Amino acid sequence: MQAMRTLDFLDGTTFTVSRDTCRGCFMNDHDHELPPILVPVLDDGIITVRQDAEWAVPGFMIVGIRPHLGSIGQMPLDLAHRLTTVMHVLRQAMDEFPDICAVQTYQEEKLDRPHYHTWMLPLWKSTMDRHTINPRIYESSIARYLELFEFPHHREAIHDCAARIQDFLRGSDLLRRQGFLPRTPPVASRPGSHHLGGEPIPCV
Ligand SMILES: [Zn+2]
Repeated sequence: MQAMRTLDFLDGTTFTVSRDTCRGCFMNDHDHELPPILVPVLDDGIITVRQDAEWAVPGFMIVGIRPHLGSIGQMPLDLAHRLTTVMHVLRQAMDEFPDICAVQTYQEEKLDRPHYHTWMLPLWKSTMDRHTINPRIYESSIARYLELFEFPHHREAIHDCAARIQDFLRGSDLLRRQGFLPRTPPVASRPGSHHLGGEPIPCV
């Protein structure tokens, strides 16, 4: 019998897949079966930007690629350039949120079948302060920070952040000139405001 494993998603959705299934490839091949919040906010057919699949931190975006490549060193140089262009604009989008005090960018290569993706994790200052979270790498409590956010409680904030980030990306002349737009599909099922600025997103 084939060994299986479970892929867990932030809204409680799970998929049972064969043990050798790549999570990144599974998500790219099953877009239409994923939770609506995981519809990419940017998608040029190769590069995707979407809410993290597992953690319910509002505004936590994953910059991924559809091809199964393990590292930025394995990409054609043009793709590496395009990837950093997207990250550049995405980081600017996060500056629009007054309570985001920093963005931690992680690119962890898995030992087993790595599929390139980069975390862009916003640090919400109010939550960091309230829970005395230390983001410094050698004494990091970021694992505890991730667990502070729960999907049922933060559902609207997650959708609102995704919508606001998508609006920012869609308004980027740089991304338009480089052909990233308008292939981006709309974020599905998103309640709340789509406006930039305004009040900080309420966090934990
Ligand atoms: Zn893959």
